[in-house]
Formats: sequence, C-alpha cells, structure tokens
Amino acid sequence: MYQPGMKSNNLLGLSCQELVELAESLSEKPFRGKQLYHQIYRRRISDFDAMTNLSKAFRTRLQDEYTITYPDVFKRTASADGTTKFLFRLEDGSFVESVYIPEESRDTLCISSQVGCDVGCTFCMTAQMGFQRNLRPGEILGQVLQIVRSGLAQPQGFNIVFMGMGEPLYNYQNLMKAFRILTDPEGIDISYRKITVSTSGIVPVLKKLAQEPKPPNLAISLNATTNEVRDRVMPVNRKWPLEELLQACREFPLDSRRRITMEYVLLKEENDSIEDARRLAGLLRGISVKVNLIPYNPNPGLSHRRPEEERIQRFRSILQELNVPHFIRKTRGDDVSAACGQLAYLEKSPSLATEPVLHTP
Ligand code: SAH
Ligand code: SF4
Repeated sequence: MYQPGMKSNNLLGLSCQELVELAESLSEKPFRGKQLYHQIYRRRISDFDAMTNLSKAFRTRLQDEYTITYPDVFKRTASADGTTKFLFRLEDGSFVESVYIPEESRDTLCISSQVGCDVGCTFCMTAQMGFQRNLRPGEILGQVLQIVRSGLAQPQGFNIVFMGMGEPLYNYQNLMKAFRILTDPEGIDISYRKITVSTSGIVPVLKKLAQEPKPPNLAISLNATTNEVRDRVMPVNRKWPLEELLQACREFPLDSRRRITMEYVLLKEENDSIEDARRLAGLLRGISVKVNLIPYNPNPGLSHRRPEEERIQRFRSILQELNVPHFIRKTRGDDVSAACGQLAYLEKSPSLATEPVLHTP
C-alpha cells in the first residue's frame, strides 16, 4: 500500500514538465508528454486506453507501469439544501472531506489541503483531529476531478475555496502546484480569479503568496479584534499577531476589482460585542476587504456558542453604519455536518472496513 513519501506510480498531480520528462524516459517525443497532460487534466480521462491520440505501444507501456487514480468516494451525503459532502479515502487509507455547495448565482466547491490540521483553533472540528499529513498535489486535484466526474458540475461552473480541512499555507508547495494545474488553460482551466485560499494567517508564507504572478483570491480567518482574544481562540496569533497579519494584508497585491475576504466567526460573548464591531471596522480601515460574518457552527465537545440572531444583526448593523462591506454567510449543509469548521473524520469505527463503498455514477 502507498505510504506518504513513497514513490507513487499515480500520474495524477504531475506537471506538464514532469509528464514530458516521463514520456522522454520512455523513449517518446516530448510532445507526447504534453498530450498526456492534456488528456489527464483537460479531458479528464483516467483510462490510458481511451487516449487514442497516443500510440498503442505508449499506452500499453503506461498501462503496465502507471495509473491515474482519483481519490475513492467512500461516502457521499446530500443535505436537504442540496449541499453535498464527499468523504474521500486516499491511497494510504486517510480520509479527507470536500463539500459541494450549489447556490443561485454560482456554485462553490470547498476542498481540503491537509489531513487534519495543527493550528489548533478552539472552535474548529478539524483541529480535533490533529495534523496527520499534507495532501499531495494529485490529492488536491483529485477532489475537484472526482466531484466533476460525479456529474454535479463542470469545472468552469464553480468557484473553488480552500476552506475544507487543513491550513493551505502550511502545504504551500503542493497547494501551488495544484493551483497551477487548476488554472492552466491547457490543464483544468479554471480562472485564478475563481479560486480562494483561506488562511489562519501564516504571515511569512502569505508574503510568498503575494509574490506569485497570478495569486488566488485571499481569505483571512480573522475571528477576533484583540490579540488577547485571538491568542486564545487561534493560537497561531501568538506567532504572528494581528498587527503583522494586517500589515501583510495591506501589502498583498490586489487588482482593482479584488478584495480580501475577512472571515469572522461570531462566537457568543467572546468576539461579538458592539466594541468588537467598532474595533473591527477600525482595524480594517485602509485595506480593501469584504467581511464574511460566519455565525459559529456548534460542534460537540467544543465550549463556544452561537450568538442569537439579535446579536448577529446588531454586529452587522454597526459594520453597516461604519461602511464596512460585509455579508453573513448562510449556514449550508449543517444537517450533514458539512458547514464551515465541521469537517473532521474522527470516527475510528471498527465497521469501517465493511462499510459499503459508494461509487459515484
Ligand atoms: N485553515 C484555513 C481554512 C480552513 S477553515 C483557515 O483557517 O482559514 C475555513 C473557515 O472555517 C475559517 O474561516 C474558520 O474560521 C471557519 N470555521 C472553523 N470552525 C468553524 C465553526 N465551528 N463555525 C464556523 N466557522 C468555522
Ligand atoms: Fe486549522 Fe483553519 Fe480549523 Fe484553524 S480554522 S484549526 S487553521 S482548519
């Protein structure tokens, strides 16, 4: 069985250059590698035999030595509102979750970057898993390709948000390799403007991201207006406090139409006061942002509470008065635990091995 770090014969996740080198190593012309890249990502074919523009001999060679394997759909759960949660089983037996969220204006695909997470935010279920490992580029892309294969949508028809399990900026290399294939017109061909990376605020990596020629949209999990509260609910703040994080946001290059999304999970009596709303407006002055207010999604065993509607509206009206662009995120898929911060595969059920594997149509 595949183990992290072991050489895999799965071609999913390889760049065009790597596939060209692979073709050459098999005594094929470099453009055969480009054709292979096109078949894997643009045409989303995973059966070498169906790649009829490649010679029979090359196909047979590939078939004998390599695979194009998407993560297995272990379970697919649809919510009453159409939100669909996918539980994927990876080659080493780890699990990650992705969520497909249909919306009126645009659909959103929320994907994972790591198995678990070690940032330790006190309100988040993924934190309860601890960190297990980084996802490889093919495992990031595989979530997207498998959901496309399930028939829910075409790649050009949705936005992608890295708001599933894990801290994407702690898996920067693999994230960016997947991002380049996702956005490559010869690859999966999704506009970089339709992809958002959400981070708890890993400032040195944020600065690296700012240097990318075509960076994704940025979302920051802010979640507090003082270092005292943020240190407590997001321990990462002790390393990179609010001032440093907001300075890195000020320096992040944005073209005229873009804004940074500031995610703010509303936690009752912790960060939802009138003073917090005012402080938030003050902190964000001069930064091109839109605030995404996310009423806390309760999780078993975690001590936070969701504010009542009245408190949420009070917070919102202060942002309104102070002219801070904002919106309240509607909770989606909470009946299947697919809402923000509820993704975690914690069960170590002995029945796991016998549970039916649900393959997508
Ligand atoms: N690690 C990244 C991306 C994954 S978390 C990050 O932290 O940004 C995606 C979003 O879910 C974050 O904005 C986080 O603050 C939010 N979140 C986590 N737990 C939540 C909960 N229980 N209720 C509502 N939002 C939550
Ligand atoms: Fe990790 Fe994000 Fe959850 Fe914090 S909110 S523990 S960074 S996944």
